[in-house]
Amino acid sequence: MSNKPLFLVVDDDPVSRLMLCRSLEKSGYETIAEENGAKALAAFDRRRPDVVLLDAKMPVMDGFEACRAIKQCPGGDNVPVLMITGLNDEESVDKAYEAGAADFITKPIHWAILRNRVQYLIKVLEAERQLYLAAGVIESTDEGIVVTDSDSIIQSVNPAFARITGYSAAEAVGRSMNLLKSGHHDREFYRNMWECLRNFGNWKGEIWNRRKNGEIYPQWANINAIKSPTGQVSNFVVVFTDLTAAKESEESLLYITGHDALTDLPNRLLFYDRLGHALNDARRDEKGVAVLLLDLDRFKVINDTIGHDVGDRLLVKVSEKLNAAMPEKDMLFRMGGDEFGVILGGLDDSRQAVQVAQGILEVLARPFTLDDMDLFIGGSIGIGLFPGDGPDVKTLVKNTDAAMYHAKEQGRNNFQFYRNELNTTSLARMMLEGSLRNALEREEFLLFYQPQIDLKSGRMVGMEALMRWRHPERGMISPGEFIPLAEESGLIIPMGRWALLTACRQNRAWQEAGFPPLRMAVNLSGLQFNAPDFTDQVFKVLGETGLDPATLELELTESIAMGDVEETLAKLHTLDQVNMHLAIDDFGTGFSSLSYLKRFPIDTLKIDQSFVRNCTSDPEDAAIIRAFISLAHSLGLRVIAEGVETAEQLQFLQQEDCDEVQGYYFSRPLPADRFAEYMVEHFQRHPSG
Ligand code: C2E
Ligand code: CA
Ligand code: CA
Repeated sequence: MSNKPLFLVVDDDPVSRLMLCRSLEKSGYETIAEENGAKALAAFDRRRPDVVLLDAKMPVMDGFEACRAIKQCPGGDNVPVLMITGLNDEESVDKAYEAGAADFITKPIHWAILRNRVQYLIKVLEAERQLYLAAGVIESTDEGIVVTDSDSIIQSVNPAFARITGYSAAEAVGRSMNLLKSGHHDREFYRNMWECLRNFGNWKGEIWNRRKNGEIYPQWANINAIKSPTGQVSNFVVVFTDLTAAKESEESLLYITGHDALTDLPNRLLFYDRLGHALNDARRDEKGVAVLLLDLDRFKVINDTIGHDVGDRLLVKVSEKLNAAMPEKDMLFRMGGDEFGVILGGLDDSRQAVQVAQGILEVLARPFTLDDMDLFIGGSIGIGLFPGDGPDVKTLVKNTDAAMYHAKEQGRNNFQFYRNELNTTSLARMMLEGSLRNALEREEFLLFYQPQIDLKSGRMVGMEALMRWRHPERGMISPGEFIPLAEESGLIIPMGRWALLTACRQNRAWQEAGFPPLRMAVNLSGLQFNAPDFTDQVFKVLGETGLDPATLELELTESIAMGDVEETLAKLHTLDQVNMHLAIDDFGTGFSSLSYLKRFPIDTLKIDQSFVRNCTSDPEDAAIIRAFISLAHSLGLRVIAEGVETAEQLQFLQQEDCDEVQGYYFSRPLPADRFAEYMVEHFQRHPSG
């Protein structure tokens, strides 16, 4: 109550009237005094007191009657009446309550009791007023308010709730809050919200709900758990504001600040914002991003000679044409002046950037006609690629800018990658990386086979399976180009599994077709070997193909010694136990010595072709091969020399007691059908004997 509470004191006894008034005034209240019920009624009507003190026994109109009459007055119902009755007058007490009195006190008045009763009355009154006020606020506020019970069943809602959600109070009350669920948030979101409510009794945040008409909208909600005096949550109060309008104006604000007024293109500000998002997406999806920065070559000259007015119109035209040349909307930005930017996100292949750059240059190569003038503009473009040219927005843009200046130096009207070599070689690499991901499911890989010949008998004893990639555009690609990429990206694991399965299946098929059982050598990447389930994978393939493990050879690299030696040993023993052949590939090129080989159950050493290549011309290489062979034999290992191309090399290896050879001298790696023909012919010349 903002003003002092006003008391209407009615008593026919002037002394007690005076005493009552003084006592109340001392407590800080205002008073009006009347001597009977009738006068009291008139005063009540005139002054609207907050509390009425009524003596029960009065002439003209007694207290009870006056009380009833006051209660009948407009607003009278809300004004508490305190009845003053005689001591122990039970009948009067009953009558007082019946008449609508809020409380009573007895005569003679005990002043301390009166003070307390009055104080209490005033408190209740204030609380009621506040409640009334609150109800008014709740009714009139723009914020939606819902009160639920502890099980989220809606108990009451305000008119704003109905306006925002479309559900009337009658429709909402008794239903669960799930009524408003939009499906926009996942379980995690609600779990967090409930945890917050449980722990802190409050949750605030943006939440998307669904209106009765199905529309999903954002709202800012503030939820409070209301506890009962015993400490349990009895209710939740949800206060929420509809954010739809706010979002819209936020968006339009972003649009205004993010767009260039002249060309209506998104501006530099938005460029940086979008680029940041594009880089984040690319990190998540393991994709690339290309940034193109374009500077018009002759715009400044035109602008200075024919005037800014024409210059502005020219810029608008150029923007429109460039925008139309973009493969997608919202890719082109005006960076300021005659500079433009392009963001290409989710990039698989840097050729996409080249295409866009070419498209831009084509647009700019044609004249722009303004006021019957043909204006040739031209442009220089720098291309930067994420992640290679910069791990963040700032570096990437800086480097792309450098590339743009490089393009200008190159005589304009061209584009340049930031990395010079990208203009040639690693461009190809980047392109490959993109298409490698899809190659397996598109079944673009195949295996070629190369024979391995026993030097003593001259008979084929095995073959090596070598992977090839038939690229839809680039044709056959050799593993030297794609295996390193596959290893970097981890794709080698599924690719290697495929190679093992295919080689085993092929070997089994040839054996079933009646060819003599030969060893099939399959290359393994260290990554594959180190996978914990590697041996399981191998046995699975053997089971699937039914191939005799004794006709399978795994070519391992020296790098397997790098890993956990005990684990490596265990794996090798597991494979050795089923008589599988184990070979060390490219022997001599790695870091390791023969010493660890003593511990490993290895059968074969493959001498790397780099030694074989020069064995007839370089005495040092010849000596190395000699040493390898004798060492291997002393360990009981078989030796294969690979890369044998000439009769001289073959002769040298024969002299040195090499066991087997492989190389172009006998055959290049061949596709399966050609290899079968080779075998038919070979075994005709070398019948078993
Ligand atoms: P590598 O295991 O050393 O395979 C021998 C390479 O030498 C093959 O190259 C083969 O075509 C080539 N070669 C054979 N005879 C001669 C010759 O007389 N002269 C010359 N100059 N080269 C000869 P390719 O097929 O290009 O394979 C290259 C490498 O790619 C392989 O080297 C191997 O490390 C890897 N690779 C191939 N297939 C697979 C596979 O399925 N899995 C894994 N992890 N790596 C593979
Ligand atoms: Ca090999
Ligand atoms: Ca090799």
